[in-house]
Amino acid sequence: MASIQEEKLEMKQKPKISQKDLFRMAITGAITATGYADVLLNRALRKHGPDKEISYPDTGYELPSFFAWDDRPVKTLGDLPALLGKARTKIDHELNYENALIAGEATMWAAEIVEALRYIDNDDPYGYVNPENEPVASMAPNLEGLPSYCGFVPDRILRQLGIAFVDDTIPGCMVFVGKANDPKALAKVIRSCQNKGMLIMASFDIIKQLHDENIQMGWDVMLYPVGEFTQVIHGLNFAIRASLSYGGRQRGDRQGVYDYLKKRPKVVVVQLGPLDQVKVAAEFAVMFNGSPTITDQDVEEIPGRYVIQKDYDQIVSTAIEIRDMSVKLGEVPIPVAYGPAFEGESIRRPQTYVEAGGAAKTPVFEIVKMVDADQVEDGKITLIGKDVDEMKKGDSFSMATIVEVYGPKMQEDFEPVLERRIHQFTNFINGGWHTGQRNLTWIRLSDDAVAKGLKIKHLGDVLYHKLHDEFEGVATRIQVTIITDEEEVKKRLPEALEKYGKRDERIRGLTDESVDTYYTCTLCQSFAPNHVCIISPERLGLCGAINWMDAKAAYEITPTGPNQPIDKGKPIDENIGQWENTNKAVFEYSHGAVDKMSQYTMMIDPMTSCGCFECIVGIIPECNGVIVVNREHSGIAPIGMKFSTLAGSVGGGLQTPGFIGVGRQFLISKKFIRADGGMFRIVWMPKELKEAMRKQMTEMAEELGDPDFVDKIADETITTDSMELLDYLQKVDHPALKMESMI
Ligand code: SF4
Ligand code: ZN
Repeated sequence: MASIQEEKLEMKQKPKISQKDLFRMAITGAITATGYADVLLNRALRKHGPDKEISYPDTGYELPSFFAWDDRPVKTLGDLPALLGKARTKIDHELNYENALIAGEATMWAAEIVEALRYIDNDDPYGYVNPENEPVASMAPNLEGLPSYCGFVPDRILRQLGIAFVDDTIPGCMVFVGKANDPKALAKVIRSCQNKGMLIMASFDIIKQLHDENIQMGWDVMLYPVGEFTQVIHGLNFAIRASLSYGGRQRGDRQGVYDYLKKRPKVVVVQLGPLDQVKVAAEFAVMFNGSPTITDQDVEEIPGRYVIQKDYDQIVSTAIEIRDMSVKLGEVPIPVAYGPAFEGESIRRPQTYVEAGGAAKTPVFEIVKMVDADQVEDGKITLIGKDVDEMKKGDSFSMATIVEVYGPKMQEDFEPVLERRIHQFTNFINGGWHTGQRNLTWIRLSDDAVAKGLKIKHLGDVLYHKLHDEFEGVATRIQVTIITDEEEVKKRLPEALEKYGKRDERIRGLTDESVDTYYTCTLCQSFAPNHVCIISPERLGLCGAINWMDAKAAYEITPTGPNQPIDKGKPIDENIGQWENTNKAVFEYSHGAVDKMSQYTMMIDPMTSCGCFECIVGIIPECNGVIVVNREHSGIAPIGMKFSTLAGSVGGGLQTPGFIGVGRQFLISKKFIRADGGMFRIVWMPKELKEAMRKQMTEMAEELGDPDFVDKIADETITTDSMELLDYLQKVDHPALKMESMI
């Protein structure tokens, strides 16, 4: 037996099939096919005479490939020799793509003739239809235990699939040709097609392979074993009829038929195993009809038309990408209810089975990363670490959610847009709760949900399904890795932090004045129905997850989505940050609840808050300044309230002068409560937040002329009492004390 090394060597040495080889195979294949058709046609003519009618059962399209591609009707045997002759004489031996396509056309006609001849005096040459002339529900094995072929697919099946085939409910049709080198891997490819609702046609040895793998075939499961050799034409003439019927194309309208077929139905041929003339000629017949081939063989690619994909796990993704198929996964496969109805559901501590991050203080993060095509297997969900069945009630766990995506139209700029939706899609779970973003998340699963069978791994299924359906235009391959192993989470965290940092950096140079367009965000309206964030370069969304770049990218991906551009228009008061059109937008998107909103002050018409703010900024009049409390801080602040109590009065889409919810990054923006005095108003913030922001705040303070400012901000280790706070501020000579009164 050859060693693996030897085998590899042999594979390397095997000459690649060049484009010229492909063209040669198509042309010789066409000569063989037309020759074969000629022989059979002459035999039939001798037997039946030229006036013998020829047609397929149950179709209004005669022999469909003639109907579509030639204006001469085909009713009798006598109509065929001229057409076949025309096809044969057009075949040119010079090896180029155009000639290979002409060979494809000739092959199509030859195959159509050979197959149609079988139907003379026999409505069911393949024995596939039962006596009532209804399609059999499933494939019954014939005497050899093999499935029989379905042969011609009648118009009624076309009508049954109906509009689904052309409105993308059925995303595409995969035609499998040849023999897979690994039948198990083939079965997986087929299941993946089925999960995506594709129509499947199988031919040649693949039919037997599927049969041996116990894959059910038949009309009802949308998997048709069309047959081998010329029988493959039945897959093609089905697609052709779809274009004639749903594209409203007339007989012989070659350009019209081609234009329609290029768009839909979205057929892709998957050629597995060694190529031969007949198969390649048939593939060029399909290519002539506007559809590409994917092969696992070593060929010189014809970009977009004859494409290599040796990794079976990537075949379906490649097909989706080359045909730009639209695939909806639909229902999320988890054991509990799912949907927007549960977004506002909260899970209190007593009902919590397990939790990660937040108050549990375990390391957590979530990230969406764009990667190369070969680094992601669409639909793969991996869990590294324990799932809930190995935890007990009250446990806390570490959690990293890493979503890797690829798509021909994906951009790095889109990552945060997808990432922000993790929050919403997790909250849609009945019994799942999520707050925060990036490395500041907090996740809970309820007792009830876990009792019903919800697992941590299901969160991966949820994200896969929802991100897939919501962003199918940009993310064609998605895989999700969830890590609950603390060491592993810690190991991967720095990479995520670096990425977050880079994203924040990108926007740093941009000012509000340098752009005319701001964006709305209404993503949180599902639970704060009147809340709208106005996002400008220097003020990001209060959740901290959507900055101006992200909103812009989101608008690019989904022009009708939650981020709408606002041409800010004439200023009403530039100091507090109000413009004609931002106010108009606020009025419109808050459904009339709020008519004015200021970008740069918390005292007059402040921005509303939904509930997912990273921090709350609140006035402390006795100190002539503001305190900042972050969500993670559980202690009491000098205004006598904890974050949770404060959140209750600030959230819900109301304007509360003196209080705003903000993203952390806004604290170091030059526009942070600019009209109220800016960053120098901050008199108190939790130590942890201060340390996390120290570097950036110090840079800002240096720029503003007070390099030691950050140390003048008190924290809980100094005091949580407002009077003591005032003493401290006086002692350190805090700049807020010298500013004009805030009220
Ligand atoms: Fe959008 Fe604002 Fe909600 Fe963030 S907090 S998702 S920016 S509406
Ligand atoms: Zn929100």
